[in-house]
Amino acid sequence: MNLLNLFRQDKTFSHGGIHPVDHKEQTAGLPIRRLPFAAKLVVPLSQHKGAPAKPVVRVGQEVVRGEPIAEADGHMSVPMHAPATGRVAAIDLWPTAEGPKAPAVVIDVYEASSQEVLFDGDIDVDKLSRKAIMQAVKDAGLVGLGGAAFPSHVKMQPPGNRPVYTLLVNGCECEPYLTCDHRVMLEQTDLLLRGIRIMLRATGAVQALIGVEDNKMDAVGAISDRLAADDAISVHPVQARYPQGAEKMLVEALMDQQIPEGGLPADLGVVVYNVGTLAQIGELLPQGKGLIERVVTVSGPGVGKPGNYLVPLGTPVSFLLQQAEADESANEVILGGPMMGMTVASLDVPITKGVSGVVVYAQDAVDQQQRQIFPCIKCSRCVEACPMHLNPSMLGQLARKRDYATMAADYHLDQCFECGCCAYVCPSNIPLTQYFRIAKAMNREQTAMAS
Ligand code: SF4
Ligand code: SF4
Repeated sequence: MNLLNLFRQDKTFSHGGIHPVDHKEQTAGLPIRRLPFAAKLVVPLSQHKGAPAKPVVRVGQEVVRGEPIAEADGHMSVPMHAPATGRVAAIDLWPTAEGPKAPAVVIDVYEASSQEVLFDGDIDVDKLSRKAIMQAVKDAGLVGLGGAAFPSHVKMQPPGNRPVYTLLVNGCECEPYLTCDHRVMLEQTDLLLRGIRIMLRATGAVQALIGVEDNKMDAVGAISDRLAADDAISVHPVQARYPQGAEKMLVEALMDQQIPEGGLPADLGVVVYNVGTLAQIGELLPQGKGLIERVVTVSGPGVGKPGNYLVPLGTPVSFLLQQAEADESANEVILGGPMMGMTVASLDVPITKGVSGVVVYAQDAVDQQQRQIFPCIKCSRCVEACPMHLNPSMLGQLARKRDYATMAADYHLDQCFECGCCAYVCPSNIPLTQYFRIAKAMNREQTAMAS
């Protein structure tokens, strides 16, 4: 161990946060492995924030791996591409992780479908204008692969055409169990740096700051080894502390600035991209390819063959779990990490662009007694843990009274980004984050009804 590391004080955000056991040892050392095709792939038309894509194929049509099968519907939308060669079996409603069924293109994959992408064409990215790069990013169907699934091209041009000075690159991966970004930084370092250089040019940013939690110093080393002393790109270890990977926390840690309440990183001349997204930009743009697969960490006590799998988009979770030898008695399957992910009600749900992990609990790992909810004892641990300086205890009491309007008007409910810190520390097991999710959904519905 480098003795200097003992005295290193890495940057972090100023208030709240927690240190959950990270459980990353199960997969952090496992290289990315390619998953075979499932017999049927299901490509939802909405895998991103914004308008769903519009199908451009019909039932019975043959499609080749990489071919566009749905086009973007407006600026805030992205296209979809066929993850494998096969025949369109249906365009129908399909279960989603969010709950309600949504339209999807179902592809029966040919048994002999090869991994080769047959639908592409080289592009000299260096000769593209900024506008053309933005179009290429959109055409590739790229969205935030860290989980937000926000269309990547939209972020390139902040509202009001505000200038961008800094590209913040999120390599924190602060959720327990997840290690796909870690592996991408180690195994796709050159693609990541190529993606960053493309986006520096496309956004006009003068510098790129890569933030990596200090439990991944091998990734910091792999990146810094490839950077020149006067490079516009620099890499910075930040403290391993949840939710360090949230945009607001990362901006504060790396730039020592606070995003104003209700504001965006763009207010400070900053755009934030996840390392996985940038590595895909570095890989796909020069080849004129669309996004058809992503790295997914499959982990948790219920998985026999945990790993970081390169998964064709549209792969049913059931197939992925079968390949990863998940315990058949698995009774809790979470898409994403355990802090901010979603428990799925059906294993027919497909892997989509925003799914970075699948965490499986074999049996009810949490003792039922522990799950019993007790009254609030006003211990204030949730207040101390909230990185947004909110009062989750008060918000929780109002949620129980269904006073959602007061939660928003007087207690800044809209500032809650559902990180789960408050619920994690609550000794009374009050499901605060779930309450806040419901409250925000009810307020959205109220607003929609009023307009
Ligand atoms: S879930 Fe919301 S209220 Fe709770 S700690 Fe996170 S930001 Fe604060
Ligand atoms: S942590 Fe739980 S028990 Fe303590 S004040 Fe917050 S809501 Fe109440």
